[in-house]
Amino acid sequence: MSDSEAGESVSSPTPGTAVAADDSGDNARAAEPIIKARGINVFYGETQALRNISMEIPEKRVTALIGPSGCGKSTFLRCINRMNDLIPSARVEGELLFENKNVYDEDVDPVALRRKIGMVFQQPNPFPKSIYDNVAYGLQIQGYEGDIDARVEEALRGAALWDEVKDQLNSSGLDLSGGQQQRLCIARAIAPDPDVVLMDEPASALDPVATSQIEDLIADISKEFTVVIVTHNMQQAARISDKTAVFLTGGELVEFGDTNKIFENPSSQKVEDYITGKFG
Ligand code: ADP
Repeated sequence: MSDSEAGESVSSPTPGTAVAADDSGDNARAAEPIIKARGINVFYGETQALRNISMEIPEKRVTALIGPSGCGKSTFLRCINRMNDLIPSARVEGELLFENKNVYDEDVDPVALRRKIGMVFQQPNPFPKSIYDNVAYGLQIQGYEGDIDARVEEALRGAALWDEVKDQLNSSGLDLSGGQQQRLCIARAIAPDPDVVLMDEPASALDPVATSQIEDLIADISKEFTVVIVTHNMQQAARISDKTAVFLTGGELVEFGDTNKIFENPSSQKVEDYITGKFG
C-alpha cells in the first residue's frame, strides 16, 4: 500500500470494524491516538445499541460522530468516560483504551476518569450557583491546591467567556444567555485540565450566532484538548472536525476517516447516500 493509500479513510468490509487510517491524509496533522475502542458492544437490557465498534481517536483533534438518530452516537460517547455506568440497564463489552489503559479495568475509578475526560451536554446545565462557583466547584471538591481564582479566569478565558462575565462573577450562571451558559459549561469542563472533552450535540439548543461561537471555541480548544463531538448537523461536522465517524442504524460504525475524505469521497455507498441526504 502506498503512503497516499494509507492515508485514505477505511470503509469496513464488515459492519462495525472501521479503523482509523494513519494520518498522512491531506487535512490531517500527524497525531497519536489517545483513545482506542476495540470491539465495543453495548446492550440496554436485551437490546444491542452498538455492534463491534473499533476506532482510534487522535489526540488534540476534533473527531465528529455523525449518523441518524438512534444509531448509537451518544451511547458510544458515554462509553469513553463510563457515563453508561450510570444507566442501570446498560452493559458494555470490549475494550476502551484511554492512554493505553482499559477504562473498564476494575482498578479504574470512574470519577477520576471523568476529570481526565470531561463532558458537555446538549442542554446547557450550569449549577444554580454563581458564575465563579460553577467553574471553581469541581476544583474545590477535587482538592485543587493551586490558585483557584487564576484557574477560574484561565478556564473562562479558554471558553471565550471571560470578557463578557469578568465584572459579574458573583451573578448566577442561570442568568446568562443560552450560548453563554454553554460556554460556562465548557469552562467548567476544561477547568480541571482534562485531556479529552466529550460534547453531545453542544450547539443543537442554541441560535445560529451562539452556535457559531461554540464552533469557533471547539476549534480553539482542540489545540489543547482532544474533542469528541456528537452532532446531527453534517455541515457542522464538515466545518469543525478533523476526523469523522459515521454510524448507521443498528449501531454499526460504517466508515471512519479524514473528514474531507468522508464528505468528498466516502468509500461506502451507504455513507454517500446518508451524507447526500438520500436517507436519515
Ligand atoms: P444517537 O445518539 O445516535 O441518537 P443513542 O446512543 O441515544 O443514539 O441510542 C442508541 C439506541 O439505544 C437507541 O435505540 C436508543 O433507543 C437506545 N438507548 C439509548 N439510551 C438508552 C437508555 N438509557 N435505555 C434504553 N435504551 C437506550
